[in-house]
Amino acid sequence: MTGVSESHRATTCAGCLRRAARCVRTRACERCGEVLLCDDCHRAAELAFGADDARLAMAPNAHTRVKCRGEAVGASAALSTGDRERFRFLVACAELRAMKTMRAETQAREDDRGFDDVASLCPREDDDGGGRWPIASHVDAATRLHPLLFATMHDADIERGVLKVNGASLSSDDFERMYVGTIRENAMLLAKESKNAFGVMAAAAADERDENDFGAARSVRGGALYRDASRVNHGCFPNVARFDNFDDDFQDPSKAFSSPSSLSALCEPSTLRLLAIDVIPAGAEVLMRCVLYTGSHTTALAW
Ligand SMILES: [Zn+2]
Ligand SMILES: [Zn+2]
Repeated sequence: MTGVSESHRATTCAGCLRRAARCVRTRACERCGEVLLCDDCHRAAELAFGADDARLAMAPNAHTRVKCRGEAVGASAALSTGDRERFRFLVACAELRAMKTMRAETQAREDDRGFDDVASLCPREDDDGGGRWPIASHVDAATRLHPLLFATMHDADIERGVLKVNGASLSSDDFERMYVGTIRENAMLLAKESKNAFGVMAAAAADERDENDFGAARSVRGGALYRDASRVNHGCFPNVARFDNFDDDFQDPSKAFSSPSSLSALCEPSTLRLLAIDVIPAGAEVLMRCVLYTGSHTTALAW
């Protein structure tokens, strides 16, 4: 699951987080007018919009009907930057929850977990044993955003007419449970996002890349939450290095860790790689550094 940061929305595709460039054409979503999408993500959005069946497999980062509605609702509300980003995350979660509700009526696939993947990330309510989670700041944020979230899901429901269970109209409580989430559940989701999301750094311009510039501060273009990689702990002495592909580095032969063409199917923008930088004995914990290795660093690390 990816989300573009507020400061990069004018230059970054809200679907795949690729930066607008000569080879990456972007234009605004025609429906909400609030996000920039690349050609690929426009096509994915068209597919998602055309779906009248929630069982349809959907690219996880597609700008769907619910997310588009959320952008329009969020744009008209007076929200702080932080709340705007939290709101978009909760809208994406609400859509996954809705998909789960719809799938429960049909045939759930083992490998198609969506909402459960996010919900199973740490922290859990019983972490630390003492009812520490969800902490008050997340509860406050979930409380502030609840009416907007309810309105977004309600409007999306009316628009597409598929957020129904057996065609029956739902009570407000059932609608909340199945689609919007309770305040407590959404507070927990915010806690999981704050604990597990990776910052996706802005691309460095080609002429700014410097082999010795290992720790240069760059702005964060967005965040990404991964089903598996988000479970890897950070360590001061990491044994894996993290590389991402939002700028198509895996397809760039000048990069040390570019892919052979036979692996091109694993070169989606959101593909993430963890490469061992040390001998990892069987049973040892995999640990990564907090900071991402990008751009020229992929060359610098090629021993
Ligand atoms: Zn895109
Ligand atoms: Zn839109």
